[in-house]
Amino acid sequence: MDILESARTNAQTTNGMIRPSTFRVVAGPCTVESYEQYAASAKAVKEAGFEYVRGGAFKPRTSPYSFQGLGEEGLKILSSVNDELGLKGVTEVLDPADIELVMEHAQVIQIGARNMANFSLLKRVGAAIKGTDHGVVLKRGFSATVEEWLLAAEYVTSEGGDNVVLCERGIRTFETSTRFTLDLSAVIVAKRLTDLPVIVDPSHAAGRRDLVIPLSKASVAAEADGLIVESHHDPQEALCDAEQALPVEALQGLRETLQPFAGAMGREVI
Ligand code: PEP
Ligand code: MN
Repeated sequence: MDILESARTNAQTTNGMIRPSTFRVVAGPCTVESYEQYAASAKAVKEAGFEYVRGGAFKPRTSPYSFQGLGEEGLKILSSVNDELGLKGVTEVLDPADIELVMEHAQVIQIGARNMANFSLLKRVGAAIKGTDHGVVLKRGFSATVEEWLLAAEYVTSEGGDNVVLCERGIRTFETSTRFTLDLSAVIVAKRLTDLPVIVDPSHAAGRRDLVIPLSKASVAAEADGLIVESHHDPQEALCDAEQALPVEALQGLRETLQPFAGAMGREVI
């Protein structure tokens, strides 16, 4: 079987999150740290004019000694703040046993780079979202080829979970000036091989906030359908990924900064 043919799916876009004429920005903190922190960070996302907010409750930390997230308590904070502000939430699931719980509290389930090849998790998520309004953001593993990434998406779609958004978040290379290397070619290639939307995470790719906006502009030009960026109301104090979080002022200007680029691509930043 032609592998690329198999990677092509009939799935269109997601539940309103991604549309061909828009450029969707999802912003928010790496992690839900407390009610106050998440509420302040989510409010800044709302005030910047965005509708989707990210916040991790179950965190896939490289070290078992790092803060692992607040778990269910974090999900409750996420959904109560989001409901109050009228925002839709994106949050990661690590364990198949938590899928239903995560779906109760968030609109979109993130599958992280470290779990891209966790096929039983992919299948369970695909089956769980089938026939629902929930979507999935599937991060590319940092040493996965485009083909492996697209086939991972098929583990979700073949279970009936159509609402899958691919997310390029940087791959591991010899380069050390950035945390990972943002592979924009992969965005273009993936869009040619599949009908699934593709968004970019410039925050984890760069690992440094000064590169997030330039990489976001480049993502628009590379035909991406949107972005997922980390932002925090007080970045210096963030418990996770502090160096890459955009401060509130940068978030406030993001829409205006990106719109000329998005406009040139026939899209509206939302
Ligand atoms: C995250 O989004 O906070 C995260 C851990 O991302 P990734 O899986 O891409 O490393
Ligand atoms: Mn992070």
